[in-house]
This record gives sequence, C-alpha cells and structure tokens, in this order.
Amino acid sequence: MFSTKPQVPSRNPPNDLKIVIVGGGVCGLVCCIALKQFGMEAHLYEAAAKFGEIGAAIGIGNNTANILDKIGVLDTLFAKADIPPQARHSMVTFYDGEGDHEAIYDPPSGPAEGSFGVTRTVFLDSLVDHVDPKLTHFNKRFTKVTQVTSDSGRQVVHFADGTTVEADVVLLANGIRGAGRDVVTGVDPKKSVVFANTVYYRALAHSGAIKEAALDLKTDILKRACIFMGTNKHAVIVPVAGGTLINISAVLIDNSVKVGEVELADDEPRVVQTTKDELLKNFEEWGNDARIIMGSVETVNKWLVEVLHPSLETYVKGKVALLGDAAHAMAPHLGAGAGQGIEDAYLLAQLLSDPQTTKANVEAVLKTYDAVRRPRAQAVWEATQRAGRTYEGHGNSGNSAEGRRRDLEGQWAFIWHHGVNDDRDIALKLLRGQGVFL
Ligand SMILES: Cc1cc2nc3c(=O)[nH]c(=O)nc-3n(C[C@H](O)[C@H](O)[C@H](O)COP(=O)(O)OP(=O)(O)OC[C@H]3O[C@@H](n4cnc5c(N)ncnc54)[C@H](O)[C@@H]3O)c2cc1C
Repeated sequence: MFSTKPQVPSRNPPNDLKIVIVGGGVCGLVCCIALKQFGMEAHLYEAAAKFGEIGAAIGIGNNTANILDKIGVLDTLFAKADIPPQARHSMVTFYDGEGDHEAIYDPPSGPAEGSFGVTRTVFLDSLVDHVDPKLTHFNKRFTKVTQVTSDSGRQVVHFADGTTVEADVVLLANGIRGAGRDVVTGVDPKKSVVFANTVYYRALAHSGAIKEAALDLKTDILKRACIFMGTNKHAVIVPVAGGTLINISAVLIDNSVKVGEVELADDEPRVVQTTKDELLKNFEEWGNDARIIMGSVETVNKWLVEVLHPSLETYVKGKVALLGDAAHAMAPHLGAGAGQGIEDAYLLAQLLSDPQTTKANVEAVLKTYDAVRRPRAQAVWEATQRAGRTYEGHGNSGNSAEGRRRDLEGQWAFIWHHGVNDDRDIALKLLRGQGVFL
C-alpha cells in the first residue's frame, strides 16, 4: 500500500533528468523514495518477481535512522517493528564469551548514539509502503548499459527479456554480484568479490524459550544488544520484534589469512541451512548464557560472507553510478553496510534533484558523489575489519580486557554522528568550487 502520509508536495520536478534505478534492495528503494520526495520520478527495475530480503535481522544505526526519518519511513518502521522510544538508541554491551561472561565494555549512551534491530522483512515492508507502485518494475534483469546513438547523450538500459529503457542517469543498486560494475570500474567481477574468511551462523530464538531454559542469566541478552567476544570467534545477540525474538549471529573469522587469499569454489553455496549441533560444537568452550541462547534456536543458516575487495577506484563512469553493496559490500561486524548504502542513496537523491543539475553537468555531479562517498564508505569498510579483529582477540591493543576496551571505545562514533546533510554540504562546496553550481 502506498503511504497514507504523502511526503511529496505536488510540484513540477526540479529538473528534467530521467533516472533509472537498477535493484530493489534497501538501497535502491531508499533512493527511489528519496528522489520521489524531492519531486523526481525515478523508475526502479528489479530482477526478482517481487521485493524480498534474505537473512534474519538488521541493525539500524543513528545515521541511517536520521535518513529514514527525513524520507518519512522511520515512524512506519518503529510502528511495524514495535520499537518503543527507550529502545531506539540502544547500545551494545560487550562481554567475554567464555567463563562467567565478564562485562568488558559498556559504551556511553546518548541521543546521537546507538542503533535498533529489526527483522529484514519488516524493514523491507516499511520501505515498500512508501514506494509508488507505478515506479517499480519486476522480472527486469538488467544486463548492460549502452549509449544512444543520437546526440541526446542518453543511456540505454538493457534487460534479459530483450526490452530496453532510456535514461539520462543509471544508478546500479544491484548488490555485491550485480551486473554492470565491471563496466564502471574496468575490473573483472570475479576478482573483486572475495571471501572475507568469515562464517556467520544466523538464527532466531524465541525469548520465551530462553526464559524457560535459563533462570540464572548473568548478562542482559534478553533486554539489549550484546556482543560476546572470544578467540577467533564472537557472537552478536540482538532482541527484535519487541523483544519477543532474539537474533543471533555467531561468527568465526579466520584471522590468520588476508581477505581475498582464500578462494571459494564457484559452485559452493554461500548460504546453507545447518544444524544447531554444528553451531554449539563451534562454541563448546563458551559460557552459560551464550550456550543457552544458541541452544534455543530452531533453524540455523550458515553464511560464507563475501565482500568487495580491493576497494573500487571509482563508483562512477559517465552517467552510470554504483551504490550500496554494488559499490562497497563490507563485512557485517559494525552493522553498518546497509547504512552506508543508504547514505549513498540519499546523497544521490539530493544531488540529482537539485534544480542546478542538468543533462549537461550531470557527469560532474556524479563525479562529486564519488569523491564524497567513496572515502567515507571505504573508511567504514576498514573500521568493520578492525572491529572483527578486536572482537576476536586480534585488535591493535591486544586481547586483554583492557586492550579490547581501548579498541572498542568510540568505534561507532564516526559512523553514527554523520549528519544527514554532511555529505550534501561537502558536495555542494565542491560543485561550487568547480563552477558546476552557482
Ligand atoms: C550477515 C550479514 C549481516 C548484516 N547486518 C547488517 C546490519 O546489521 N546493518 C547494516 O546496515 N547492514 C548489514 N549488513 C549489510 C547489508 O545487508 C547490505 O549492505 C545491504 O543489504 C545491501 O543492500 P543493497 O540494496 O545494496 O543490495 P541488495 O540487498 O543485495 O539488493 C540488490 C537488489 O538488486 C537485485 N538485482 C541483482 N541483480 C540484478 C539485476 N541484474 N537486475 C535487476 N535487479 C538485480 C536483487 O534481486 C536485489 O533485490 C549485513 C550483511 C550480512 C551479509
């Protein structure tokens, strides 16, 4: 259902660019909603027959929540996900995974800090509620972009069913394995999508079952997000669905090899269903609370996590731009990957809907998007790798409780404190400096 709370004042579009978005994951959807809110009608083409997300839950950091608020989605999400005000800026408590679960670090909370967890289905549904259905097209598998032969400067977007559409700007939000990135970057796709030496066991548990099983929990696992840290393993526990469900990500990183050194066979499935026994066996030396929660799950999925590496040298070629996982897929250790894609989407929507953006200067505008977004998304990518090492005892300050605490302090600050207009302000300054905008 299209939102009953229209965000779009009726007005003429700020410019006459025709924009096509490829991929209806969270980043493509946010871009489509934001552009519509700024008065532009971007059409979105999705390969699948309907919108869908795989995986259990997702953490929404303060930076992402602020953008969702600006595009009118946040209230829908809070209502659908049943997130009470006191749970909207939750902080993660860090514990030792072994023994009596010594509390290692409790970060300070505040209005600009924290995140909340939602199921992916609810997140997607909340976005879809705000997308105008007449702008979305399914069963449209994008294959390539070519140039129109006339001097219109337009792009031709091709789909697997043989159809095409023309656009002034093409935004590829088609995920880590999306087509077209090689054309933007010139890099063989097989060389840029690599195994992150990281295995994620993902599962949901009913908190009722955990309460029944455990009378003497030492940690806050039923009330707030917790990260249990160990040696070459960690686990992230996040209450979702109003605390009725607990999302569990139990993680093993092989910290002895560099990202990209281990190759997965092409035909090896990246996500498989596995058993609770396999999960428990990998954490057999861990303490009571961690094992109780792992013992309470039903279905367990095992993910071999892939990332984009090395970082791309550009997100833009001509009138084609990458965003989201298509540009910077990262490991999940800071719960920040989608947030970075949402920041990309919002900046693109702000710049492409600017009345000063024209068919003649749009390539310069997209280059500025690249100049602003690439260093930030890459810094978050690197911070994510550092966080994984810290959780698993290989941080810069060592594996003692004190060392881990030092490395954890402020690790989310630069991500969460990023203002909704920070990127736009830098981009406008650059565009004015280059004489592209007045
Ligand atoms: C285990 C795990 C946990 C995570 N936890 C978090 C978290 O807590 N917080 C967070 O912020 N991030 C998290 N992330 C990262 C986050 O899930 C991704 O960054 C985000 O989902 C990427 O969204 P996207 O829209 O860029 O791509 P995708 O979600 O991959 O969407 C791409 C879309 O494009 C479509 N598509 C693909 N190819 C084509 C084509 N040729 N033509 C048309 N359509 C196409 C696909 O069908 C899909 O709908 C996690 C990731 C993992 C793996």
